[in-house]
Amino acid sequence: MWDPTIVLLARTACHGPGLCAPNGFARLPAPATGRRPALGYNARMKRTLLAGGPGGVAVEVERRRVRRLNLRVRPDGTAHLSIPQRATLAEAQRFLDGHADWLRRHVARQEARAAEAEVAARDGLLPLWGELVAPPAGMTADELYRAELERRLPEVTRRMEEATGARASGWQLRAMSSRWGSATPGTGRIRINVRLAAYPPTCLDYVVAHELTHLLEPSHNERFHVLLARAYPAERTARALLRRPAREVAAANSFPTGNAHETSAG
Ligand SMILES: [Zn+2]
Repeated sequence: MWDPTIVLLARTACHGPGLCAPNGFARLPAPATGRRPALGYNARMKRTLLAGGPGGVAVEVERRRVRRLNLRVRPDGTAHLSIPQRATLAEAQRFLDGHADWLRRHVARQEARAAEAEVAARDGLLPLWGELVAPPAGMTADELYRAELERRLPEVTRRMEEATGARASGWQLRAMSSRWGSATPGTGRIRINVRLAAYPPTCLDYVVAHELTHLLEPSHNERFHVLLARAYPAERTARALLRRPAREVAAANSFPTGNAHETSAG
């Protein structure tokens, strides 16, 4: 049997689902050694299995020279599982059934992002600090977000270093697809996802406080949450916002009277 523990892939300290890992990349620990029955099809042949039975998420399954089962949700929302040469399809199916909820959540999130990018391309507006804005001409979303974060980050880090009592040795802005931030306690370096500029400013406060807290406590244990809650009490609000597409959050802020208008018409 494979060890059923799921571990989100992260080389640094930060890997809480929905926290530091907005997308999905699940990975199983290496299997126990032992002979496995060979299956009667080519090593690289791809199969499609449904996670969680009929109506479940379709997952492309492929045998690779890997030591672990690697489950990945791509940016377009499709799911892919690579399995070791000796793993059986029944084992792959059991693994997928065990992670059906995880898959549904992450596929939905990726699809929402893809849809968001499409809509943004149509009306030309971008979510910025929780509001829809027209970006400056000739500037890509990534450039705008990076510039905005460079402008705002020094003030936020000063405030949050004071609140947490931790101090980072360096800050990096990155366009990351799988995490809002990460911290390496050994070196004191913190990386922040530039896409945070799309969300209300409280989300940046939260991620900065979260990563700084990792310099005091690397894992997401009780001590970590106690320390973080002291430095940043509005954790739940920020986390809830980060689970929604940035554009949806921004649209709700930009047109707050939309629903009231509709209901008063009747
Ligand atoms: Zn974390």
